Amino acid sequence: MKAQPPASHFIDGEYVEDINGAAFDSIYPATGEVIARLHAATPAIVDKAIASAKRAQGEWAAMSPTARGRILKRAADIMRARNRELSELETLDTGKPIQETIVADPTSGADAFEFFGGVAAAALNGDYIPLGGDFAFTKRVPLGVCVGIGAWNYPQQIACWKGAPALISGNAMVFKPSENTPLGALKIAEILFEAGLPKGLYNVIQGDRTTGPLLVNHKDVAKVSLTGSVETGRKVAGAAASQLKHVTMELGGKSPLIVFDDADLESAIGGAMLGNFYSTGQVCSNGTRVFVQKGIKQKFLSRLKERTEKIIIGDPMVEETQLGPMVSRAQLDKVFAYIEKGKAEGATLLTGGGIPNDVSAEGTYIQPTVFADVTDDMTIAREEIFGPVMCVLDFDNEDEVIARANGTEFGLSAGVFTSDLTRAHRVVDRLEAGTLWINTYNLAPVEVPFGGSKQSGFGRENSLAALNHYTELKSVYVAMSPVQAPY
Ligand code: NAD
Repeated sequence: MKAQPPASHFIDGEYVEDINGAAFDSIYPATGEVIARLHAATPAIVDKAIASAKRAQGEWAAMSPTARGRILKRAADIMRARNRELSELETLDTGKPIQETIVADPTSGADAFEFFGGVAAAALNGDYIPLGGDFAFTKRVPLGVCVGIGAWNYPQQIACWKGAPALISGNAMVFKPSENTPLGALKIAEILFEAGLPKGLYNVIQGDRTTGPLLVNHKDVAKVSLTGSVETGRKVAGAAASQLKHVTMELGGKSPLIVFDDADLESAIGGAMLGNFYSTGQVCSNGTRVFVQKGIKQKFLSRLKERTEKIIIGDPMVEETQLGPMVSRAQLDKVFAYIEKGKAEGATLLTGGGIPNDVSAEGTYIQPTVFADVTDDMTIAREEIFGPVMCVLDFDNEDEVIARANGTEFGLSAGVFTSDLTRAHRVVDRLEAGTLWINTYNLAPVEVPFGGSKQSGFGRENSLAALNHYTELKSVYVAMSPVQAPY
């Protein structure tokens, strides 16, 4: 299987190569096969991408939002028409099963282009402020050249979630995908160009943690939006702060999912499984600390074990497959090390913990894993594992579980399952997180703001709120009578 793009980078409306950049392979995680060979961006490529974005941005910003939106909506249509092809590429890039990518990846990217393409004509208006004779008005203006840096779990979605609000607001974007998943973003750039986006406005360059800082520190970059780990977030936000650049930080989590004993059991188990095993557990907002009220613990665990052991693991290109491999060998090793720590620290391994049968030995597969009797102090309950490892913790009452759920440096997401409506609202009010769910988990439609609090980051993606992070306000005071100077 090959997925070799014409060249490593997409700049100024065309594929560009610079073989002086360090070569790296793109690997299909299900088989270990090399599917493409690319080169990281050299400083010359970074300069070229930013210069082209800077050249293009002024004219783009001068277009009406409706005209810009028309292009984004056309890109959404192209993505939907090519959903199968893009989903297969996403599966090759990430190892996620086609069953998921076909409904969750290009489609959610297309949603972002469609949503921002549609709403912007009204959403980018300013305000009129009456001042009793005089008046003022505000204009919402773009920031300039914005940089997007992506993680490897949702490469196409992240490329669109950053690109759509940036472009509709009149900015140009230079996007760097994760070195683990370099392919999807190139296709997004191609499609935007095909939809009529003028060249230079969405450039994609490749590279890793050594390339990212070249973008972040570049003098012509006004804003950086990162999706990545907290550790990377601290570095990127620190570098951006030293030059007073705008930032959006979409970082990691260790989110609580609370199941009260009056919850619909099957629904809560389904939510917990989706919130731990979807995308082989590689989802930032996963509810990896599942707090289960003691009264239903045994029932919950026995049905959870039964349902987890039925998950179909295998070739991600087969429609029936429900769980694919992890993105890389390094990530797999990291997850196995956490599983060993869980056992060593006394958690009960309810199911999983090993390599599944009947999968390619070169693939980076792991069984969906559940630990029970997990306590707050265990490493697996404190650190983000980023793999299909669910920790089930017991609790007695509402006050106790809220204090424990909030007892983390992270604050990305949280969920509660209960049939008591007032309790559900009371609990979400007290949980410290940016994105919360009642009686479901991990749904992130484009209409709803998405993002974290505490160490999980700041800024919001999706919804009209994202536009605030890609624009700034200009206030204009208009005098209607001569100046009355006292001297
Ligand atoms: P990572 O932090 O290792 O890398 C993220 C990106 O940052 C990559 O493109 C990488 O090349 C780049 N990078 C690394 N160091 C850099 C630096 N010093 N300067 C500039 N760029 C740098 O993260 P990952 O392993 O790719 O992804 C997993 C992490 O992402 C998890 O912590 C997960 O929770 C988080 N994530 C968050 C969200 C969200 O929306 N909150 C979504 C997906 C993933």
